Amino acid sequence: MQNTDVIIVGAGPTGLMLAAELRLAGVTPLVLERQPQPRHVPKAGGLGGQVLELLRYRGVLDRFEAACTDPIPAPRFPFGGVHLDLTQLPGNPMHALPLPQQHLEEVLGQWAGELGVEIQRGHQVVGVRQDADTVTAEVNGPDGTYEVTAGYLVACDGGRSRIRDIAGIPFPGNTYPEVNRLAQITVPDSVIRHDNGDLEVPGYGRLRSGFTRTEHGLFGLGASPTSESMAVYTTEDETEDYDDDAPLTLTEMQDSIRRVLGVDLPVTDTLRLSRFTFKARQAERYREGRIMVAGDAAHLFPATGVAISAGMLDAVNLAWKLAAAVGGWAPAGLLDTYHEERHFAGARTMLHTRAQVSLRSGHDPADEALRTVFQELLTDEPALRRMAALLAGSDIRYPVPNPNGHTLTGAFVPDLTLHTEAGTSSVADLLHTARPILLDLADRADLREIARNWQHRIDIRTAKTGDRQTDALLIRPDGHVAWAATLDEPADTAAAGLRAALSAWFGEPA
Ligand SMILES: Cc1cc2nc3c(=O)[nH]c(=O)nc-3n(C[C@H](O)[C@H](O)[C@H](O)COP(=O)(O)OP(=O)(O)OC[C@H]3O[C@@H](n4cnc5c(N)ncnc54)[C@H](O)[C@@H]3O)c2cc1C
Repeated sequence: MQNTDVIIVGAGPTGLMLAAELRLAGVTPLVLERQPQPRHVPKAGGLGGQVLELLRYRGVLDRFEAACTDPIPAPRFPFGGVHLDLTQLPGNPMHALPLPQQHLEEVLGQWAGELGVEIQRGHQVVGVRQDADTVTAEVNGPDGTYEVTAGYLVACDGGRSRIRDIAGIPFPGNTYPEVNRLAQITVPDSVIRHDNGDLEVPGYGRLRSGFTRTEHGLFGLGASPTSESMAVYTTEDETEDYDDDAPLTLTEMQDSIRRVLGVDLPVTDTLRLSRFTFKARQAERYREGRIMVAGDAAHLFPATGVAISAGMLDAVNLAWKLAAAVGGWAPAGLLDTYHEERHFAGARTMLHTRAQVSLRSGHDPADEALRTVFQELLTDEPALRRMAALLAGSDIRYPVPNPNGHTLTGAFVPDLTLHTEAGTSSVADLLHTARPILLDLADRADLREIARNWQHRIDIRTAKTGDRQTDALLIRPDGHVAWAATLDEPADTAAAGLRAALSAWFGEPA
């Protein structure tokens, strides 16, 4: 029997991010991963969304950029059969990196390792039980079965989470009948490549880069002029005969392309092949006593490009709250805000990914008309900006107490430029350490004096910024604003608001 503070089950992107964030918050977790070696199964081809901003705020984004396999592409995204062209959108919130999941996990693992995280590989959790004070995992390790007891256990064990089932957390939703097949290929000289990524396919003619819809499904083509290989993608309603457990073969991929396009696409080499179906499921509760679920264990979305960001941001939201609970100073209800905030964020992602299912389904003229109208709406900048924020998850405002109704409360803090006598910096620089901050932007000695009673838990910073929307901000470690003073707020109301927020999020004063 070992003892530890927090057990993390699974070293995928969610588990690794949680481990790193817990270390930043001063807790050393035990990470148990059933695979003896890191996986090389092709999964996500890229990382996109709000988590890239968070990684920038942590000061580690450059590591992820350096690990990218291709040049960072222009910001164009499929949104359920229509295209979001964000290239002309000033301050576009939707960022993406061509960083295959295997490399993402390597970089995350390295960062976590530098912070002191050790991963126990080849250790599979086969049972979990909890009582009022502890949670115990039964583990099959290389040297046999053992038990480990902790204060908390977080299931980052993927969409088929065994821990979620053992904890009795329902996972309602549905599976869509589409099958998606994805391949990274190279083509022979008989297929001419145009500079803009279009292909000239014998027997078909010009096949344009992006999506081509036919009577039999959807074909996607993603080629970059600087890379020999290209991504091809098909979506069809389920054909009778495929085995979900068998890996996708080139023959199956080519059969699918032939069904969708009506011609063969010649291939010289295949770099990756994968097949997946879309599920829309969300855990009813993200917390059951001392057990939490995060990442795919908590949600599966029916569109690509959003799941990893959602999972890693679950981890960021949970880590500092768990650290507070482990440290024994978590205010009442703090851990429950993990479910309240991240279930809410997951439901927003579910909303737009389900909308994408409707937008990409159907070959009827009515379906086509819906796509055309939607695409037309996206030529208006405010509509496009709103869609980009929805896709990125940058518009998430957590449902936190907000007595003065400030628009920043609950939102991800903007990266204000900060001027002090020591020089110019920004909010992102302050969040490298993942410490909570009272940021005084109007030389408010009264507010700093209040915060001093919490200075064992929070940092206090004073700076000036242009275009000030608030006198002061209380920023949580996950970058979300816990409280903001309105510009015209009476001093006593602001003081009471700050005191209440400090107590609610960071416990009793010293
Ligand atoms: C083909 C494909 C393409 C995708 N493309 C994208 C994309 O473009 N963008 C995107 O954001 N997402 C994409 N995804 C989804 C993305 O891969 C997942 O959202 C992501 O892997 C979830 O991370 P996770 O850490 O929550 O779970 P996982 O990555 O599933 O990790 C779970 C880990 O837990 C371990 N584990 C499970 N059970 C136990 C146990 N009992 N004991 C110990 N360890 C255990 C597993 O071995 C695994 O390492 C794609 C997925 C697929 C399959």
